[in-house]
Amino acid sequence: MVKNVGTSIFFKRCIEIFKILEYNTKLGKYVFENHRKDERVMKKNGISLKTLNIIMLVLALFFGIGLIVAVNRSRSVFNDNQEFTDQYLEWRQGSYDLQMASDYLTEQMRNFTVTGDKTYLDNYFTEANVTCRREHALQVLGQGHARSSSYINLSAAMEESVSLMKREYYAARLTVMAYGYDITTYPKEIQDVKLMEPDLSLDAEAMKELARQMMHGEEYNKRKEVISTHMQNCLAELDVEMEKKQADYSSSLANQLFFEHALAICIIVLLLAIVLYTYNLVILPLRNSVSLIRDDEDLPISGAYEIRFLAKTYNMIHHNNMRSKEKLTYEATHDKLTGMYNRRGYDFLMENIDLETSALILLDIDKFKGINDTYGHDTGDRILKRVADTIFANFRVNDYICRIGGDEMAILMAQCDASVSPLLDAKIKKINKTLSIKQDKDPVVSVSVGIAFGEKGISAETLFKRADTCLYEVKDGEKDEVSFFKNEKKKRPEPKI
Ligand code: GH3
Ligand code: MG
Repeated sequence: MVKNVGTSIFFKRCIEIFKILEYNTKLGKYVFENHRKDERVMKKNGISLKTLNIIMLVLALFFGIGLIVAVNRSRSVFNDNQEFTDQYLEWRQGSYDLQMASDYLTEQMRNFTVTGDKTYLDNYFTEANVTCRREHALQVLGQGHARSSSYINLSAAMEESVSLMKREYYAARLTVMAYGYDITTYPKEIQDVKLMEPDLSLDAEAMKELARQMMHGEEYNKRKEVISTHMQNCLAELDVEMEKKQADYSSSLANQLFFEHALAICIIVLLLAIVLYTYNLVILPLRNSVSLIRDDEDLPISGAYEIRFLAKTYNMIHHNNMRSKEKLTYEATHDKLTGMYNRRGYDFLMENIDLETSALILLDIDKFKGINDTYGHDTGDRILKRVADTIFANFRVNDYICRIGGDEMAILMAQCDASVSPLLDAKIKKINKTLSIKQDKDPVVSVSVGIAFGEKGISAETLFKRADTCLYEVKDGEKDEVSFFKNEKKKRPEPKI
C-alpha cells in the first residue's frame, strides 16, 4: 500500500515536471517568435545608430574636407596677392629708379657744363655704365610684364633718355674742348662725338655757352618732359593694374571667406545635431531606463532602433520574469487542487490580518477517509474540489479561504463579529445542503464547522484553539453541524500516537 502511494506520488511529480518543461518550451518558442516579429516591426521604427553614424561621418568628412579645401584656396589667394604686391612695389621702385637715374644724369651733365668739373662727368658715366639703374628698372618690369602698357611707357622713357644722352655727350665734348682738357682721358662715348663744323670754329666761351644752352635750353627741357610723362604714365598704369588686381583678390577672398563661413556654420550645426541626436536617441532613453529599471517598471519604446530593440527585449524578459514570479508566488501560497490558500498562505494571513476584528471558521469533511477507502483517491480529490467550489460560491471574494490539512479548511473573515453568526449558520447549512445533493456516481458529503470570533488581545493560537474546540465538539456529536465558540468549551484531546 505504502509502495503504491509512493509510486503514484512519483508519477504525479513526473507529470508535473513534464508539464513545466512543456510550458517553458512553449514560452521560449513564443518569446523567440515574438522577438523576431518585433525585430521586423521595430526595424521600421526609429533610426539605427549605425545608419546615423554613417550619415554623420559622411557629413563630417564632406564639411571637413570642404573647409580644408576652402582654407587652402584662401591661403593661395592671399599668397598670390602678397606676391603681386611685392612685385608691384619692386616695379614701382624700378620706375622711380629710372626717373631718378635720368634726373641724376641730367644734373651731373648740367653741373659739368656749368663748372667744367670733371668729377661730375665721372659721376655721369658711373651712373650710365656702372650703376645702370635705368637698365635694371627696365629689366625688372620686363620680367613677365613685357607686354603691359606700363612697360611700354617705361621703354619709351628709356629710349628717350638714351637718345637724350647723345645731346649730353655733345655738350660734354664741347665743354672738354672749351676747357682744353685732354680728350684721350675721357670715356670713348665723348671721344667718338663728332662736332659740327660751325661749332668747331667757336671760341672757348662760345663753346661753353653752347654746351650750357644744350643742357638748359627749351629743347632739352621738352625732351625731359617727354621722359617724365612716360614715367608718370608708367606709374599710373601700374597703379591701375594694382587696383584692378587688388579688387580681384578682394572679391575672390570675400567669396572664399563667405564659403568658409558657410562651411563653419554647417559644421557647428552638424555638431549640434550630433549632440542633440545622441542625447535624444541614446542618452535620454538610457537615463530614463536606468531609473525605470531601478523601479522595476517597463521601459518606454523610444530612441534609436538599437535602444528600442533593447527596451523591447528588456520588457519582454521583464514581463516573463514578473509572470514567473507571480506564478511562483501563487503556487507557493495556494493549493493546486482546490485553488484555496495553502497552509503557508494561511500562516501568513494569521500573522498579518487583524484577528481582533476577524472570524475564523474551521471546516472538516465528515468521514472523508471512508470515501477515499471506498471510492478511491480520485473520487476523494473530486469531492475535495466540489467542497472547495461550494465554499467559494458561498463566501465573499475578500474572505480568505484556505486548505490547512487533508480535508480540513479554514475561512478568515475580516471586519466582522458575533453579529454575523446567524448569517454564517445559514451559509454552512446552505453548503451542507448543496453537498447533500448527489452528483454523478460520487457519494454525498457534509462538513462539520467550528467558528470563533476575535476579541481584544487575542492571539492566533487562541483563536484557532477556540474554533478547533467547536469543530471537535461537532465531530464528537452528530457531525454535519456548526458550532460557535462560547466560553468554557471543552478542549480537543491530544491525538494518541
Ligand atoms: P472525520 O469525520 O472524523 O473527519 O473522519 P475522516 O474520515 O474525515 O478522518 P480524517 O479527517 O482524519 O481523514 C482525513 C483523510 O483525508 C485522510 C486522508 O486519506 C484524506 N486525504 C488527505 N489529503 C487528501 C488528498 O489530497 N486527497 C484525497 N483524496 N484524500 C486526502
Ligand atoms: Mg474529516
